[in-house]
Amino acid sequence: MERSHRLVQVEDYEQFVGAEMIERVREKAKPLQGLHVTHVNSTYYGGGVAELLSPLTLLMNSVGIITGWRVIQGSPDFFSITKKVHNALQGGKINLSDRKMRIYEEIIYENVVRNHLDHDMVIMHDPQPLAMVNHYKKKGPWIWRCHIDLSSPNKQLWRYLVPFVERYDAVILTLKEYKQKLTTPQLFFMPATSPFSLKNRELSEDEIDERLNRYDIPTDLPLVVQISRFDRWKDPEGVIKAFKLARKEVDSTLVLLGNVATDDPEGEEVYESLLGCREERIIILSRQDSALVNALQRRAAVVMQKSIREGFGLTVAEAMWKGTPVIGGNVGGIRYQIEDGVNGFLVSSVEEAAARLVQLLKDKKLREQMGQKGKETVRKQFLMIRLLEQYLELFNSFKTVYQLSNANKVYK
Ligand code: UDP
Repeated sequence: MERSHRLVQVEDYEQFVGAEMIERVREKAKPLQGLHVTHVNSTYYGGGVAELLSPLTLLMNSVGIITGWRVIQGSPDFFSITKKVHNALQGGKINLSDRKMRIYEEIIYENVVRNHLDHDMVIMHDPQPLAMVNHYKKKGPWIWRCHIDLSSPNKQLWRYLVPFVERYDAVILTLKEYKQKLTTPQLFFMPATSPFSLKNRELSEDEIDERLNRYDIPTDLPLVVQISRFDRWKDPEGVIKAFKLARKEVDSTLVLLGNVATDDPEGEEVYESLLGCREERIIILSRQDSALVNALQRRAAVVMQKSIREGFGLTVAEAMWKGTPVIGGNVGGIRYQIEDGVNGFLVSSVEEAAARLVQLLKDKKLREQMGQKGKETVRKQFLMIRLLEQYLELFNSFKTVYQLSNANKVYK
């Protein structure tokens, strides 16, 4: 039996953003029909980049851009090095030895051999596939999209990466404050979320109960939830400490849900280090279950995202979209998602997080008000259609440049 399939179309966003924006996006897509584009990253699941690429690549196809998504492969050594690179770009230390650079560049070369990239546009995400650019004769613009909090990258590492970065035609960073000294033009796009994904779609109370029951998550007390890869930058220990302090005043249950991305070898270790903290009211789960993420973000009284560094918190946008108030770390992209005291709270310490937790748990009206404002923030700023429009603008700007410099190049 043949099934019929339907992609999310830009028109589906009309209910959230109005007809004018839909019309504008359609117009911007017109000159790009048949453009062949690929995105490249290093994992199909786990982490915000995969979450973003999944709906974004489909939405791009739905407006007539032939858009693919490739995932590079690597040995455990390679991903251990690229995670160190990730950490150092966020300000951590790295011992950048010849061995590390050799392994990184060798695995990159293997991926180059396997991936024939002759697209009109190539978009590389994050440092893992960055150096591939060195080995191709570019047919069109190559864009490096870095999702990391680049407010204070390790200098030695950055010096090593710059020659790769400068081979790109454009660099997209999340915030202006991440801007670097580069010869390549830099643009700033904040990530976005899809209201139609399994993670965000509406759920009935029964569906939420069913999902929470499946994991024996008690709902007799308010739920405080943090959903994050098991990563030190997400400060899971700080969340547990804040929860314990808050519980002295208001009773609740904490759920830390995490997953482990295939390109993040530290996740397992961080998860195991937390297991000793489990208690009757501290639930720590490692699962890949989008419906559970959805149910928890909806049922939670408060969602925490107490990160110490964060390029942008997709989990923050997801919870806000569901009308759940968020307490976020006062860092990176979260500062542009949460307006402190208006649509959530920003915190800089365990004590502050605990105080805000108590305040929100005690005040249902405040939770509802902040939740509603949070939802409105996401509707206006963080839905996938806005990000699509930014990419269309970028592609259109390149099209002009490349037509001028490559007189023979014709886009279908
Ligand atoms: N996520 C998930 N299951 C988990 C933990 C995280 O599906 O157990 C998802 C989460 O819903 C979000 C993404 O992973 O969509 C994390 O993106 P974010 O930008 O918050 O952080 P990153 O992992 O990219 O640092």
